Amino acid sequence: MSAYTSAFELFSIGIGPSSSHTVGPMRAAVDFAARLEGDGALEKVASVSCALYGSLGATGIGHGTPDAVVAGLQGLEPESVDPDAVRRAWSDWPEGQPLLLAGRREIAFAKSDVVFEPRTRLPGHPNAMTLVARDGDGAVIAEDTYYSVGGGFIRREGEPARVAAEPMPLAFDDAATLLALCDERGITIAEAARLNETALHSDEEVAAGLDRIWDAMAACVNAGLANDGVLPGMLKVKRRAAVIRGQLEEIQAEGHRELPGEWLGAFALAVNEENAAGGRVVTAPTNGAAGILPAVAMYWWRFLADSGLGQGNAVTPYGELVGSALLGYDGHAVTRGEVSAWDDDDVAEANRRRGIRRFLLTATALGSLFKANASISGAEGGCQAEVGSACAMAAGGLTAVMGGTNRQIENAAEIAMEHHLGLTCDPVGGLVQIPCIERNAIAASTAVTAARLALRGDGSHYVSLDAVVETMRQTGIDMSTKYKETSEGGLAVNVIEC
Ligand code: SF4
Repeated sequence: MSAYTSAFELFSIGIGPSSSHTVGPMRAAVDFAARLEGDGALEKVASVSCALYGSLGATGIGHGTPDAVVAGLQGLEPESVDPDAVRRAWSDWPEGQPLLLAGRREIAFAKSDVVFEPRTRLPGHPNAMTLVARDGDGAVIAEDTYYSVGGGFIRREGEPARVAAEPMPLAFDDAATLLALCDERGITIAEAARLNETALHSDEEVAAGLDRIWDAMAACVNAGLANDGVLPGMLKVKRRAAVIRGQLEEIQAEGHRELPGEWLGAFALAVNEENAAGGRVVTAPTNGAAGILPAVAMYWWRFLADSGLGQGNAVTPYGELVGSALLGYDGHAVTRGEVSAWDDDDVAEANRRRGIRRFLLTATALGSLFKANASISGAEGGCQAEVGSACAMAAGGLTAVMGGTNRQIENAAEIAMEHHLGLTCDPVGGLVQIPCIERNAIAASTAVTAARLALRGDGSHYVSLDAVVETMRQTGIDMSTKYKETSEGGLAVNVIEC
């Protein structure tokens, strides 16, 4: 048994604005429709209804939950769907229009077939939903309850918790075990994560998959920096990332030096504005906190990667220089013929991509600890579970690519999480906008500060990462449900929605 969650699950490419309230319910609806089809029951279905409980019922409309359910019932998947096909899929459902269940079976559907029951909390998880399929006489054909447990992950009631298909080569339950395993083998945390990934995929697939995640994150940053205007929803929040980008470019055009710290904030705003607009986003580890890791990684890519600081072993397209030997990623000694094919740009690009893979793998190992031993769900643990976890993952990832030791990485993650303990989730109007968007920019800068502090030390510190994860778990249990993505407390009740 291992706490490890694959990078390809923790960082899934989907849509905004919420992993638990949009992506998870969409996956649940896809699963429900696919099961009806798989059981040969699709042709008997005349109608489907959906009840959204607890936090899904309380803030579902602002998070696009019923839109995601309607899209999912039609067989549209978050990874591949055009985000425009989900936005307002339920809100603008024309009266009397049939729904194409699983993309094949026409059934009757009305907006009122989705009901909201915020006061009903199911024991399995605060984010619960029940889907019911009926035949033409109203008899129940199938009924399933799903829990959206954070980060886009779902669990169907009655199903055992999912276990990894293959045993992980490096099984660890907590940070202490992870560090001990790395010490024993003389490897980095990123390497430990890579070894676990290769139990499921080849080395080439892991590298290509991590590159795809980064490309989607970078595309989201760039889209957010380009798109201006007003975000959807009654708050009429103005997008700021593109405006700040324009200001920063103007400053540079006037001959002033670049301002990396200000770009860092703009990168985070860009992602979370794209998320709030329902655009293409990568969970990191959730949508609400999706801006922190891409912002910190982009900050490293753009301002630090070529600085020569913290590269560790020199990295080339073909391998890593270890002492005087150049070892390929498969362990073979690289030949002169291979080396002669490189040019400077190839090497710089490969260095950055290798760094990003190391960043993401380190973050995955750390994120796995939060997911297994506390929570990455705002509805379960408040915002400390979402933004706090993402900040710790980013701090650890940055420390790794700056050449930090495993203990400095653990220290950076601990610092980042320690100063998010107790952070509540209180989105105004149930929209993932206020305080979420700015909060990502602040957390990105906290992640950079945590990495800097850790890199200035020797890795020894007083509070362990395991202690802070356990504190986050306990604090989440003690936190009132008002502060767990219900919009019933905090800013959500003190800010007038107009
Ligand atoms: S306040 Fe935090 S946990 Fe809540 S929706 Fe916003 S980002 Fe997510």
